[in-house]
Amino acid sequence: MKLKIFLFTLFTLFIFSCQPRVKPPKVSKAPKINVLLAEFSNIDSILFDGKYLLQLEEARYQLGQRQKNFYLSPSKTGFKFYNTNRLFSFNQKDVAYLMPVDTRKARFKFRNKWYKGKIIFRLSDQQSILLINQIDLEEYLKAVLVGEMPSNKDAYLEALKAQAICARTFALSRMEQNKDKPFHVYADVRDQVYASLERRTSLADRAVEATRGVALMFNGQLAKVYYHSTCGGILEDISNYWSGKRVSYLTSRKDIIGDKFTCAPSPHFRWQKTFSFQQIDSLFAARFGKSFFTINSSDTLDLFCKLKVLERTSSGRVKALEIEYADTSVVLNNFSIRKFFTDREGKSLPSLLFKLSLQNDSTLVITGGGYGHGIGLCQWGALNMSTMGFRYYDILVNQYFPGTYLKEMY
Ligand SMILES: [Zn+2]
Repeated sequence: MKLKIFLFTLFTLFIFSCQPRVKPPKVSKAPKINVLLAEFSNIDSILFDGKYLLQLEEARYQLGQRQKNFYLSPSKTGFKFYNTNRLFSFNQKDVAYLMPVDTRKARFKFRNKWYKGKIIFRLSDQQSILLINQIDLEEYLKAVLVGEMPSNKDAYLEALKAQAICARTFALSRMEQNKDKPFHVYADVRDQVYASLERRTSLADRAVEATRGVALMFNGQLAKVYYHSTCGGILEDISNYWSGKRVSYLTSRKDIIGDKFTCAPSPHFRWQKTFSFQQIDSLFAARFGKSFFTINSSDTLDLFCKLKVLERTSSGRVKALEIEYADTSVVLNNFSIRKFFTDREGKSLPSLLFKLSLQNDSTLVITGGGYGHGIGLCQWGALNMSTMGFRYYDILVNQYFPGTYLKEMY
């Protein structure tokens, strides 16, 4: 009998040891990112939907009655956080943390937009209030994706995945650069546009989830990731801007698939802007404080400015533009050229890939291509590649960042 039990045990052990060992899937946590929602020096308010805990040294307070605003404003000694029932006072160096009790459901409204995650407020060095949203990096990316790219067609999924990897790589770089600062990223174009909860789409969520933790790398480091709306057919070399340093995967080259421009379907692929003499005069007045144009003056044409492109980059974008106007001559460079030619709607020139011409001797015509700086990922090119059936790694590694590779960071 004993022998039978022994053999049975041996047999069972043998069977179990032959089973392939299935490791549980690795669920590693995404890091938290601190996003600056606003900086203000007067009063502003927050509305909670769900319970939040205010963690203070002496106690924790539960907040979050619906439809009751909490106000935040600087005070003589620091800043205060209050509503009609409660007042919390903070000193200059204090950092206040508000944590959601139910992280999935609790949310807060600020300036008519809903967000979720932890809230941090503190004073900046200039004594204004910093309202910071601390959120799981993957959740942050879902909000960035809809702020940066259209996500209304299933065919865009692969482009959205490529954009999600770019946005994650960019965010991880900023988190490293600003690890000792009160926040890592701005919530607007200074870094990446962080949209509110209402704008999120299931397609963008899918793109982030499918690429969870994946970043773009070069030589063992996070790649330098840039992106723009439309290159107009030719990508720009990064060495023409900022530090002037060359980056092997951010060089000027045609953005083509076969013999067709990749971003040709973009609404910004080609554009034209016209400026009357009078408009240019007011642009000049706004920029340099000088106005010479008078409608009744017979010498108006003599006063009209002379425009001359002094230099173009290797991609053909205007690098330096000389403007001679009456007794003044100025040279504008790079982005200040786009800003100078601001139209009646307040929009600056879409790109620096343009040529100048005159229409009827009285109107300046600027004919151009693309929207944005043209460096790195061309978003409309990526959307078109996605529609054509290319995968996200084709878009990133083969088309826009050659020589880079993908790596799972967590
Ligand atoms: Zn392009």
